[in-house]
Amino acid sequence: MTTDKSNRKGSNSTNTIPHGIELLHDPRLNKGTAFNDAERDMLGIRGLLPPRVSNLSTQDKRIMENFHKKTDDLEKYVHMIALQDRNETLFYRVLMDHIEEMMPIIYTPTVGKACQLYGHIFRRPRGIYISTYDRGRVAKLLENWPQKDVRVIVVTDGERILGLGDLGANGMGIPVGKLSLYTACAGVHPSLTLPVTIDVGTDNEGLLEDPLYIGIPERRHRGEEYDGLIEEFTEAVQQVFPKALIQFEDFANRNAFRLLNKYRDRISAFNDDVQGTASVTLAGLYSALRITGGELNDQKILFAGAGEAGRGIADLVVSAMSSEGLSEEEARLKCWFVDSRGLVVKSRTDLAEHKLPYAHDAEAVADLATAVKSIRPTAIVGVSGQPNVFTTEILEAMAEYNQRPMIFALSNPTSKAECSAKAAYEVTRGRAIYASGSPFDPVEFEGNRFVPGQGNNAYIFPGVGLGVIASGASRVTDEMFFSAARTLANEVLEKDLESGSIYPPLSRIRQVSKSIATAVAEVAYAQGVATNPKPASIPEYIGSQMYEPVYPSYA
Ligand code: NAD
Repeated sequence: MTTDKSNRKGSNSTNTIPHGIELLHDPRLNKGTAFNDAERDMLGIRGLLPPRVSNLSTQDKRIMENFHKKTDDLEKYVHMIALQDRNETLFYRVLMDHIEEMMPIIYTPTVGKACQLYGHIFRRPRGIYISTYDRGRVAKLLENWPQKDVRVIVVTDGERILGLGDLGANGMGIPVGKLSLYTACAGVHPSLTLPVTIDVGTDNEGLLEDPLYIGIPERRHRGEEYDGLIEEFTEAVQQVFPKALIQFEDFANRNAFRLLNKYRDRISAFNDDVQGTASVTLAGLYSALRITGGELNDQKILFAGAGEAGRGIADLVVSAMSSEGLSEEEARLKCWFVDSRGLVVKSRTDLAEHKLPYAHDAEAVADLATAVKSIRPTAIVGVSGQPNVFTTEILEAMAEYNQRPMIFALSNPTSKAECSAKAAYEVTRGRAIYASGSPFDPVEFEGNRFVPGQGNNAYIFPGVGLGVIASGASRVTDEMFFSAARTLANEVLEKDLESGSIYPPLSRIRQVSKSIATAVAEVAYAQGVATNPKPASIPEYIGSQMYEPVYPSYA
């Protein structure tokens, strides 16, 4: 998958790299105080650095010492982004070596706060911004990107950032963060990644009035203007970066499903909010079943929230149930939705199109608690963006109907979770199998320690992307996400399950991503969508392509 660019695996030719201060200002090549004596002479940087030569491990210590001194998570975020802008290798070394500590900073929940304040903490640009006013020249903008072999693009239009709503061009923090995770979690080389923000304005009043807002200070342009810009963008990608996978991220659901349906059979693209979420949640259900001992087809799942995440999860659950013997119709009847207006049922006349397949023949019910009581689900999945809607009453009901109720409170960031880990364990007296979207600390209850699993999409999309890139898959198929879910569930160890966690610890994420990439590439070859020659051993090939942050030797 990687091309033979010299800086990929630690060797570099001195005549292709800048010398002097320019080198120290190039984050891809900079080693800071780790340039050795010979390199300092050869590259014209002697005197530009303090005399003592250090190494990655000492530099890591310095970064972490400063990181720990910061009391505010947003400051930690700024500290890490500044490092990414200064020294990419060290940034990834630190990120990978401290992934559990770094993930909530680089990604949810802190990245949400960073996006809200993006214009205020803005220092250096990263990625490509494409605005409404760039119609007709999008390919030219992409050509301005310094890397010519891009294999994965994460693109947002900023309309539904995490659970925080419309953040316009400030949403750029999301593609930047997600692509850092491609590298840290799955070893996709940073030079192969490109963050993109489509800026069609924002309907966020606060941002429109903020003089430091970085996007075009106009209301969102919609309709043909919007669709035309997205179409031009996807065409420009095919022209400038023909091997790139496009990950659609944090689009509002009015566009997310439409764009996914429009492009999924035309180009290599997926929507992480729909398909990545679905895969990580299905994996959680499979792992939970390892604890409860039941079958997927015997579950009844109630979704609080009928948006992108909920619909995506339900569709994948239905295809998983179908593969285990139920008809599609039977499988759909196992999935129920409650949206802001109550239970999604046939008699309602206010349902958006994407909810219709799950509108069952049942009595209308206005609230979640009554829906739980009438449906008696085995699992409740919170994807509503509404904090604490899994009330004590609901948790008690779940514990009454199930020996081990599955409680997934997936809304991000932490402040939006449908219930906290503590509430889930305490109300169910330790019987809940709980997972959240954003991280929660372990909970001590009646002498037991529960480690809540985080249904973080980062378990899925980096591995899926790596598998797609490695196989050169021309399409991203549902089977790939299905296979990724099964693989992730199989990566959960007994000891993880014993501590209550239905996901593996993030410290094993590289191994997990490698297994997922292998599974995805196998699906690509089996389905005939792979365009790269099949390697003798897929796992070995994938392992050999994974980026390791080590300094190249220049002398
Ligand atoms: P969305 O805007 O598409 O959908 C939200 C849905 O919630 C809508 O159907 C809305 O009607 C419904 N809703 C609003 N208030 C409600 C209430 N009181 N009770 C029940 N339903 C209500 O958003 P989305 O993309 O589906 O994401 C929803 C949430 O899921 C977000 O907070 C997001 O951060 C989270 N999420 C988590 C993960 C993860 O943990 N892996 C992945 C994706 C999304």
